[in-house]
Amino acid sequence: MSRIDDILTQLETISRNPRAQLDACLAAGKKAVGVMPYFCPEELVYAAGMQPFGLWGADMVCDQSRRYYPAFICSILHSVLELGITGKLAGLSAIMIPFSCDSLKGMATNWEVSVKDIPVINVAYAQNRKIDAGTEFTASQLRKIRGQLAEIAGREITDADIAAAVEVYNADRAAIIAFADAAGKHPKLVPAAKRSAVIKAGFFMDRAEHAKLLTELAELLAAEPGDRGYIRVVTTGILADSPALLEIFEENRICIAADQIAAESVDARTQTPVTEDPIIGMAERYGKLEGCSILFDPGKQRGKELVELAKQAGAEGIIWVMTKFCDPEEYDFVPVKRMADAAGIRVLSLEVDRQMVNYEQIRSAVQAFAEMC
Ligand code: SF4
Repeated sequence: MSRIDDILTQLETISRNPRAQLDACLAAGKKAVGVMPYFCPEELVYAAGMQPFGLWGADMVCDQSRRYYPAFICSILHSVLELGITGKLAGLSAIMIPFSCDSLKGMATNWEVSVKDIPVINVAYAQNRKIDAGTEFTASQLRKIRGQLAEIAGREITDADIAAAVEVYNADRAAIIAFADAAGKHPKLVPAAKRSAVIKAGFFMDRAEHAKLLTELAELLAAEPGDRGYIRVVTTGILADSPALLEIFEENRICIAADQIAAESVDARTQTPVTEDPIIGMAERYGKLEGCSILFDPGKQRGKELVELAKQAGAEGIIWVMTKFCDPEEYDFVPVKRMADAAGIRVLSLEVDRQMVNYEQIRSAVQAFAEMC
C-alpha cells in the first residue's frame, strides 16, 4: 500500500466510526465536548485540553427525535437529537449549540428536555458581525463560553492556551485548503468519497494530527501527475458527505475541483487573526467568514465567492447540494444562482437528506448534467 493510500485509509476509518474515536478519547481519560454546526469556538475546547467532537448528524432513520421536532426540520438536527436521545453520544461532557438558523434556535431546548445527562453550552454570535459592536458582542459570548468550558475541564483556560489552540486550528485550516486543492487535481487517487472522509475525520480527532496528515497528503499528491478526463465542478451547500451521492459523482467522472460546503472548506478558508487577546481574534474571524447561508450576508458575498471559485478552478459547473428543509439554503439559492447565471456558469441543484434511500432521481440529474458538460 502506498503512503497516500495508507493516509487515506487511516482518515476514512476515523470518519466512518466516530464513536470509536470518542471511546478511545474517553478511555485515555480525556473529556470530549460535542460541537454542532456552525462555527462554534472549538479552539476553546481544545485550549481546555478536551477533545472537540463534531456533530453533523448521521445517515439514519429517526424516530425519537420526532417527539420534539416536526418532520419538516432538517435531518442534521433530527439525527443529532436522535443520537443524543438514544445514548449514542454518551460520554460527552457537554454539547455546544449555536442559534445560527430558525431550526437551531429550538435545538438547545429540545436537547435539554430529551438528553438530560449532557449539558448544553449555548453559542450566540453577533448578527452584525463585521462592525466593532458585533466583534465586541461575539467576544463577550466567547468569554462566557470560556468560563463554562473551564468549569467542565476543571482547570483555567489561559490566553496562552487559547493562542496555542488558535495556532493549531490555523494550521489545520491551511492544511485542509492545501489538501482540497491537491485532491481537485487528482480525482483518481482521491475520489469524491475519500476527499469527503479526509476532511470529515478532522471533526473527531486531534486537529494537530489531522493537519500533519493532510499536509503530508497534499505534498505526496503534488508529486503525482494530475488526472485528466474528469468533469470539474465546484460544490456548494451545507453538507455533501452522502456515500450514495458521492458514488454517483464518481460514476459520472465528476471531480470536486473546489468546494463551498459548510462542513468542508468554508470554515477552513478563513484564518483566525493573531491578536494580543486571542478571544478578539476569534471574534474577528467570525466577521470575516464568507460563503455560508447562515451568515448575515446582505451583499451576497457567497455568490461572488462561488463564481470566483468556479472560475479559478476551471470548473464546468456548480453543484448545489441542497439540504432538504433548510430554509437558509433555499433563500440563498435564487440570488446566488442568478449570479452564476450572469457569469455563464451552469448550476445543478440536488436535494439530499440524511434519511434518503432512493437516489435514482439524483443519478439521472447528474448523468444529464455530465452529458451537457
Ligand atoms: S442551516 Fe439548514 S441544515 Fe443547518 S441546521 Fe439550519 S436548517 Fe438545518
